[in-house]
Amino acid sequence: MRELSVYYCPKCGYYGYYQLQRNAVCPKCREDMVTLSISYQDFMDLSCEARDELLSAHIIAAASPYVRRLLAPHKTNNNREIIARMGDRITELEIENEKLNKTIEWMHQTIWELMRKTKGLDPGNKESSETGIDP
Ligand SMILES: [Zn+2]
Repeated sequence: MRELSVYYCPKCGYYGYYQLQRNAVCPKCREDMVTLSISYQDFMDLSCEARDELLSAHIIAAASPYVRRLLAPHKTNNNREIIARMGDRITELEIENEKLNKTIEWMHQTIWELMRKTKGLDPGNKESSETGIDP
């Protein structure tokens, strides 16, 4: 019989034991689970707190540097599920934020182009408003 390995879901922190990698799919998120570099027996010997701590550390280590920085202070107060969910949410928000920034950039550019075009079509108007001598 093949030995069991410990797998965890990086999205929600769920963990389980599987013989084959292909069976290690999170039942909640349908995400592929990540294998943990600890033997099944060593993991079983850990207390629940120690398991949470180990998994939290792994989830934080696997996160992007930005997410890692935000999660680090919470590590001592949170369990693995919260750490995983927070990390996932922060990543989501980061992607959303990036999209919004790009939209704003695009809008600025469009507005500037419009302004340049408007000014280009009527250069006389600009001069008169600057000098202010027109009646
Ligand atoms: Zn999951």
